[in-house]
Amino acid sequence: MHTKRIGKSLYLIDLEPGGYKNFIGSYVIKTAQKTILIESGPTNSIPALLHGLDELKINPELIDTVAITHIHLDHGGGAGTLLKYLPNAKVLVHPKGAPHIIDPEKLWRSSQSVLGFVSDIFGKPEPIPENRIVSMIEGTISLGNVDGDDAKLTIFETPGHASHNLSFHESFNNGIFIGDAVGTYFPDFSTVSPTTPPPFYLDASLASLDKLINYCPSLLYYTHFGKANDAIRRLRGYKAQLLMWDKIVQDAVKRNQTLEQITDLVFTEDPAMSELSTFLREHKIYAKTAVENSIYGFVEYAKKAQSKSRS
Ligand SMILES: [Zn+2]
Repeated sequence: MHTKRIGKSLYLIDLEPGGYKNFIGSYVIKTAQKTILIESGPTNSIPALLHGLDELKINPELIDTVAITHIHLDHGGGAGTLLKYLPNAKVLVHPKGAPHIIDPEKLWRSSQSVLGFVSDIFGKPEPIPENRIVSMIEGTISLGNVDGDDAKLTIFETPGHASHNLSFHESFNNGIFIGDAVGTYFPDFSTVSPTTPPPFYLDASLASLDKLINYCPSLLYYTHFGKANDAIRRLRGYKAQLLMWDKIVQDAVKRNQTLEQITDLVFTEDPAMSELSTFLREHKIYAKTAVENSIYGFVEYAKKAQSKSRS
């Protein structure tokens, strides 16, 4: 079973790229009036996504929006391929991301250099015609009547993980699709690790978390992976975790420690990382994306911050 109903008018499809379950999800909002997909996932998972839509008995012709939180391969990389199967859909993306999905060559090259072998598991993005893109940094989509209320999807910016991160709040379950703005969630552990690849922006991330808290959500929908309740506690917890990493990494960079030493420190000093240690180090993709790239992004941020404070 690849699909699951996770709330009123809301479904999760497990895309299982490379056979990894509970790793990347797409969400489907289906009301009487509207069908919207959140995250296309990567190119190589499009067959799994189409299979999931079929399992949910969703007619692809009814989907009019594929909203992507950001253009990284695991979130929006498959949108170009997906559109070939969704004749009436447009891709909703941040304006800073739009040029890179119209012509994805640069995105693909930079993904190959940052992700290495993982980019081949995700697959190369196909270009998207400009007339099938809607770019915005804020707005509202009316979803019609859900249980007697006027349901809506609110779009807003949450930069930090990427400079062009969007989040989407749905009013009928009071949940937010956050992309990677609140880290990577591991449902089996009910804990989170930071998702901070370079270029990472700590101040922007913290401000985005405050913005998310101000929506007073009950639920968070992580692309990696799944629905989590107790949203406010998790948002505050992620802020605290980022500040903890900042302290660990800043101190270590001052002492000229290597990336390997800093990684060991993070695993020892952050209790969430200690708990996840074996799982993360053994997961072929997370070892690269959640551990190596996230710690590297934080180190680069710390170096930049320290050279700025010296000048
Ligand atoms: Zn991601």
